[in-house]
Amino acid sequence: MPAESGPHGSHMPLVRISRRGEERVNAGHVWIFGDDLRETPSGLSPGDWVRVESRSGLPLGTAMLNTHSRIALRIVSREVIEPGRAFIARRLGEARARRAAAGWDDENAMRLCFSEADAMPGLIVDRFGDVLSLQILTAGMERYRQEILEELVSLYAPRLIYERSEGGARKHEGMPERKGPVFGDAAIATSVIETDGVRFLVDVEKGPKTGFFLDQRSNRRIVRDLSAGKTVLDGFCSTGGFGIYALAGGASGVLAIDSSDYAIGAARDNAARNGFEDRWEGRSANLFQELRQLSASGRTFDLVVLDPPAFTKAREGREGAVRGYRDVNRLGLSLLPPGGLLATASCTQLVDLSTWKEALRFAAADARADLELVAVGGPPPDHPVLLGMPETDYLKFAVWRKRRR
Ligand code: SAH
Repeated sequence: MPAESGPHGSHMPLVRISRRGEERVNAGHVWIFGDDLRETPSGLSPGDWVRVESRSGLPLGTAMLNTHSRIALRIVSREVIEPGRAFIARRLGEARARRAAAGWDDENAMRLCFSEADAMPGLIVDRFGDVLSLQILTAGMERYRQEILEELVSLYAPRLIYERSEGGARKHEGMPERKGPVFGDAAIATSVIETDGVRFLVDVEKGPKTGFFLDQRSNRRIVRDLSAGKTVLDGFCSTGGFGIYALAGGASGVLAIDSSDYAIGAARDNAARNGFEDRWEGRSANLFQELRQLSASGRTFDLVVLDPPAFTKAREGREGAVRGYRDVNRLGLSLLPPGGLLATASCTQLVDLSTWKEALRFAAADARADLELVAVGGPPPDHPVLLGMPETDYLKFAVWRKRRR
């Protein structure tokens, strides 16, 4: 793509979209689906950056095109911009300023750029100390991979940038996966981070997704502050976040369960790293089965944390996901004595807050439990939420007390 021909990206191909697409854009969304494309010039390739106009010729902005994906256009700006290094630098700088405005300017562990939520569709960058973990999930961002790497180096001076461009998203965009060190010292793949005084070893090669789940930071604090003197079940513990925060808050003991052997090993290491090994026990098991067994044996906990993986990524899976939330929360509630707390999360984008609450209502009825709201959580400031784009509002979290009946 010629970078410097003409002002304001006027060399970019022009794509017109339907009335419905225009309304979507005006309502604040940045995705346009294939059936809302109207006039698309021939000869365009996945990842091309294009100008977008309404059918009547109203300029709507700049987008990345990929007709191989169900999401044919992703708006990167409401203006006609000049794609290239300067634009990448501007967006990464804005993402940094956004976090600084929330008081997160010098966190050693945080998400530096979160895809559409930072107006960079398909680009995720996490900082773990001086190691950056990168995911490029769209053909449009892939086009500027070199510029992105150079800008990240100049903004953050990392010792290592490790790429984890994996998973279904790339397949939808027609791109192969890519994983490995892409800048700096390839010999290091781990970094010790500290959040709220708690230390974790993050392995950007073997850890989950980019290495560690940063999005639960505020919710872990909520759990920590409710944990003093309590016995805690950390369900779906991954590398140990919630349980270790609970111990930092004075929990008397934690049983952490995850189906991944890697996760349990990493969580055990992290518990020890914080000096909690004698109050932390890990079990690698299917949580649904394990909760049934614990319940059958009469075991109870003062606080049960449930942080399941996304139960579906496809619309067809929504009903099953809702059933999953109903089941797992019913099982969790069965381990609580009256007065006990259920801290429960959902990261399924396609299950919205009211649908999730409905599932919890069914779970409570199944468990014959009256639940009273104790705290509401959500994503931390490095995971921005756009009102006009519900997909950015994926993380739901609440703590409920089981009332004596
Ligand atoms: N609570 C974690 C993040 C959880 S991610 C944190 O704070 O970092 C979801 C986890 O659920 C993954 O680690 C995955 O291995 C685990 N998992 C998925 N299905 C499971 C099942 N049926 N039983 C137990 N763990 C499961």
